[in-house]
Amino acid sequence: MTEAKKLSSLKLLAKRYARANRITLHQALDLVAGKLGFANWTKLASASKNDWIPSSEQMASIEAFVAHALPAADFQAGHPEAMTRRFAYLEQAEHGMIGGHAYRLQVALHDVIMAGDGWSITMPENPGAAPIVETSTENDGRCPVFDPEFLREALSLVIERAVQVRGEISTDWPRRSTKPDLDGVVRHPLWGGESDVWFCLHCDGKITGAQIAQNLWHCPGCGASPLDIFDTAFWCDDGGESLPSVRTDGAVDGDKPDFRVVDDRPKLDLNEEKITLLIRCALLDDATNISEKLGALQAQISVDDEKGVWISLEEDLWPQDKEPVQAFVVAAQLGIEVELESMWSTIPFAWPGLGELTSSTSEYTQMMLDAYAQYEPSPDKKT
Ligand SMILES: [Zn+2]
Repeated sequence: MTEAKKLSSLKLLAKRYARANRITLHQALDLVAGKLGFANWTKLASASKNDWIPSSEQMASIEAFVAHALPAADFQAGHPEAMTRRFAYLEQAEHGMIGGHAYRLQVALHDVIMAGDGWSITMPENPGAAPIVETSTENDGRCPVFDPEFLREALSLVIERAVQVRGEISTDWPRRSTKPDLDGVVRHPLWGGESDVWFCLHCDGKITGAQIAQNLWHCPGCGASPLDIFDTAFWCDDGGESLPSVRTDGAVDGDKPDFRVVDDRPKLDLNEEKITLLIRCALLDDATNISEKLGALQAQISVDDEKGVWISLEEDLWPQDKEPVQAFVVAAQLGIEVELESMWSTIPFAWPGLGELTSSTSEYTQMMLDAYAQYEPSPDKKT
């Protein structure tokens, strides 16, 4: 493969990746560049000008990466670095089978996620949180997570891994963060500070050192992350003296899964904006010259609650006797009534008739520029 070919197939792979994951091409390019050891795509492109080309192994690894890419709506807005890191996790995913159903098990930012066809089980980093079972449909007899035997086995794998992940977190933290001293004093794992009582910014709960350590610095009351836990309630006048202790009555069975149906089928929300877009598009179908195209683009379209649409067409741009046939057809398809009206407004360019002479925008632009040029003051008349 030649140099140019390799670069363009990298671009193509990034494009495919971007589509699959609904991120911008720009983000996908940076991601691919990151996988090849560059800070971003611009760096990769300039290296390629200096004779760098990806090796065949590198090409293969990017191909594999794209092929195994998972939809990941949640890092659409992600920073390339964060995304690259996330992919490192995804690549470590383990694959296996339970009772004939394939699964993938991976750790993403301390959450353990097991996923298969139409289902996933997430064990949040917070030890107090219940596992979340998500399915794309209600129990239709096909999704294995509704089978108690399957679920038991899957959960045991997920929980086993979560215990391991929590162990790794504790290892990274100071010993005093997970092991209170005799007075119940613990150290905040992220920004230090020692105390036997802690406060949750999120729910205003007062938490003992032993509680917070045992819960890996997640609020036992509301599940807030270590970022929300402070040794004084600086947001209270009395530093938190009067705040109530968090309730950890043990009523929540941490291992009882929380089932959720996530219906990710595409759903049509035919709102005013979308109706307007379709009607305008249809007006463009009806437009036979530039004048009418401008008329379609400038038309005022409004939709009312009773599913009627008003189309106001500029009289100088759209012939009064011309029926927007396609717009009527589209409105009928959408089940809405059309009201047509004329309007008189300021048109964008003088001589609307010019636009009737052509259907080519470039041809029109030239005619319009020439027409205006005739009215420019000649240089010797300038004051
Ligand atoms: Zn809380």
